[in-house]
Amino acid sequence: MQPVVIVGGGIAGLATAYELDRRGYPFVLLEAGRRAGGVILSERVDGYTIDGGPDALLVQKPDGIELCRALGLGDRLIPTKPPRLAFIQRGQTLHPLPSSSVLGIPTRVGPFVRTRLFSWAGKLRMGAEILVPPRPLEDDSDESIGAFMTRRFGAEATAYLAEPLLAGIHAGDVDRLSLRALFPRFTEAERQHGSLLRAFRRQPSQASPDGAFRSLPGGLSEMVEALVAALPAGAIRLNTPVARVIHSVNLVNPVNPTNLVNPVNPTNLVNPVNPANFANPLAPSFSIETSSNDRFHASALVLATPAYVTANVIRDADEALARLCDQIPYASTATIAMAFPRTAVQHPLNGSGFVVPRVEATGILAASWLSSKWAHRAPADRVLLRVFVGGARDPRALELSDEALTTRALAAIGPILGVMGPPLLTRVYRWDRASAQHEVGHLARMQAIDRLLEAHPGLFITGSGFRGVGIPDCIADGRAMADRVSRFLAGGARPSAGRPT
Ligand SMILES: Cc1cc2nc3c(=O)[nH]c(=O)nc-3n(C[C@H](O)[C@H](O)[C@H](O)COP(=O)(O)OP(=O)(O)OC[C@H]3O[C@@H](n4cnc5c(N)ncnc54)[C@H](O)[C@@H]3O)c2cc1C
Repeated sequence: MQPVVIVGGGIAGLATAYELDRRGYPFVLLEAGRRAGGVILSERVDGYTIDGGPDALLVQKPDGIELCRALGLGDRLIPTKPPRLAFIQRGQTLHPLPSSSVLGIPTRVGPFVRTRLFSWAGKLRMGAEILVPPRPLEDDSDESIGAFMTRRFGAEATAYLAEPLLAGIHAGDVDRLSLRALFPRFTEAERQHGSLLRAFRRQPSQASPDGAFRSLPGGLSEMVEALVAALPAGAIRLNTPVARVIHSVNLVNPVNPTNLVNPVNPTNLVNPVNPANFANPLAPSFSIETSSNDRFHASALVLATPAYVTANVIRDADEALARLCDQIPYASTATIAMAFPRTAVQHPLNGSGFVVPRVEATGILAASWLSSKWAHRAPADRVLLRVFVGGARDPRALELSDEALTTRALAAIGPILGVMGPPLLTRVYRWDRASAQHEVGHLARMQAIDRLLEAHPGLFITGSGFRGVGIPDCIADGRAMADRVSRFLAGGARPSAGRPT
């Protein structure tokens, strides 16, 4: 019996494990796959370092970078290579995102007036944002990113900024993703200043001189490898998919079984007043069954799996909780990595890559120029590019074969980058239901999930489906879960849930 079982060895589960270990709590982590890291996967092939999934840690949310430093990787953090431009495709032209912007919202007039990304009518409408009245303060209903941006900046800003950039990083639908859940800063700016242009113009630039992102020379798998090495040997069990969880609350307090007998009023079962009962290692309250019918018993359980997996494993324990988790949608994407001789690509590749607005309909979401973005990704005289396909825009893309995905990727980037000849190397990474979609209503659903969790002391839920999607948010939430677990095991009251900021 372990006091704590963690299910899922993506970054959220690993961060939970790391923090529990740091605090001296023994645990076992059960991971379905052959490796830890979840969607974080970097491969080193023929002198290339290829990030099949994420490649960047956002500086503004420091949890990722702080964890790297704590793991001894501080000296290995690398910034993006200058000139740090990101491009947006319109027609057959790649337009640099106007400099001086906050998440695409221009903060200075000059670069915005000069850009040819927007029509003059579009620019005028965007500039008129300053005159658009804010939503009444009493209206705190959720709104999609698309509805918000169109209301404030007009349809062109939604089509050429919000859709490819803000929804694009989530591979999501701009008309469904929740502004409040994903970009609360915009909601706040409107509430406090009445206008985003006014709010962001007044804010001092938070941009780091070395750019907004960091990575590692060996790809972000370096962080995963360091995390795994920092955990006790044998604490991670790979190839161990969990099938179901039983919450045997009646085991909790053998001394006082009256707490336990009223199924009509499950609040009786919670006993938040005396959660120290649950800390008794002789009284495990969770039974965790793997697909091969092995059983683990634990006093505290952290589920760090995608929300639909979490739903499946807890269905027998709490049908209503499972239903809510199941309502969190996921999008699927493929990353097609391709290497070329430098001379076979005419474009200067003077930036990190480009995004493709939905209205351009080229069949891809974006392309990143990995070897221009980071040092150490490709041998000299070679370039390494990645193309992203699928997402909410094209939910059936993963039905295509690797060859068809590669053909589509080449057809989309060939003309715009001037690619001549076939790739020297191709790798296709399939991310089936891997991108959590925090859609309108997500925060209300999270509140309902947290309320139902009250009935399961010792049960904690984390991962990108729930409180934050990016790696820093997953790390922050995983560590916050470990803090709650340790307080629970130490007999403190169940702390209330919260979203990492
Ligand atoms: C292509 C792509 C690019 C991205 N780029 C970036 C980026 O550059 N920067 C950034 O900050 N974020 C990025 N993200 C988002 C971020 O990487 C993810 O949201 C985050 O890594 C998710 O971590 P997680 O631990 O919640 O989930 P996952 O990584 O999905 O891990 C969940 C784990 O649970 C395991 N599991 C599933 N079922 C079971 C079961 N039954 N039993 C046991 N284990 C199970 C899985 O095998 C997996 O290891 C990107 C995401 C994708 C898909």
